[in-house]
Amino acid sequence: MPQSLVIGNWKMHGSRAANQALVAALQQCLPVNGVQVVLCPPMLHIADVAAQLEDSPVLVGAQNLCAEAQQAGAYTGEVSAAQLADYGVRYVLVGHSERRALYHDNDDRVAQKFLQAQQAGLVPVLCVGEQLAEREAGQALAVITAQLQAVADKAGMAAFAAAVIAYEPVWAIGTGQTASPEQAQAVHAHIRQWLAADSAALAQQVPLLYGGSVNAGNAASLFLMADIDGALVGGASLKADEFCAICNAALE
Ligand code: PEP
Repeated sequence: MPQSLVIGNWKMHGSRAANQALVAALQQCLPVNGVQVVLCPPMLHIADVAAQLEDSPVLVGAQNLCAEAQQAGAYTGEVSAAQLADYGVRYVLVGHSERRALYHDNDDRVAQKFLQAQQAGLVPVLCVGEQLAEREAGQALAVITAQLQAVADKAGMAAFAAAVIAYEPVWAIGTGQTASPEQAQAVHAHIRQWLAADSAALAQQVPLLYGGSVNAGNAASLFLMADIDGALVGGASLKADEFCAICNAALE
C-alpha cells in the first residue's frame, strides 16, 4: 500500500453551486502529499467536480452504479460503470449500508456491482459492516465475513487486489458514535486475516478504510491503528477545514 486513502462521501448533499464552492475550498488545502484523496459527489455533480479536479491528484468517485452492464438491457434511471468511467470517475462505493438498507442492495447485487465496476476499470470500494443488534449478539465478524465472501464467490479472491474494503459499522454512520480505535482495529485485523488466508501478499495490498462518524478530533487515533489505512468520511467531508484536517491526520 503506497499511501493512505481518504474518501469523502457527500451523499445527496448540496446544490450545484454549493458543491463547486466546496471543491474550490478543498483545493485550498488539498492535495496532501502521501494521501490519496477521492471525492464522491452526487451523481449529477460528477461532471462539474471532475472538470474542477482535472489537473489535480485528487480523484473523483461515485456513490453507486448500475449492477448491470450497459449493453445488457433497458434500465431506466440507472448509471453504468462505463458511463462513470467516461466521466473520469476512478472509484465507486458498492454496498454502502444506506443502499443495502434502502435500495435492496443485497450481497448478491453488491457482488454484481463490484464486478461491473472492475470490468469498467473502476476501483470498487466494498463497504461492509454490522448492525448494532448484530454486534450486541456477538455476530459482527460473522456478518462481515459473509459480506466479503459473497463478493469473493462471484468475483474471485484475486479481484480484491484491485479493490478497497471499507469497514463501516452501521451504528456508527451519521450517528456521531464512532467505533473506538480498538473496536475498529479488531475488525480490520479480522478482514486482513480473511484476505491472508488466501494470500499474504493480497492481504498487504488491499487498503482497509474505517468509516463511521470520522471527524477531525478522532481521525488521528483511528489512523494510529495498524490495520486502518484510511477513512471513508460522510458528514465531515462536507466541511473543507475538517476534511483537510482528516487528510492531514492520515499522513502523520
Ligand atoms: C458514510 O456516509 O459512509 C459515513 C461514514 O458517514 P459519516 O462519516 O457521516 O458517519
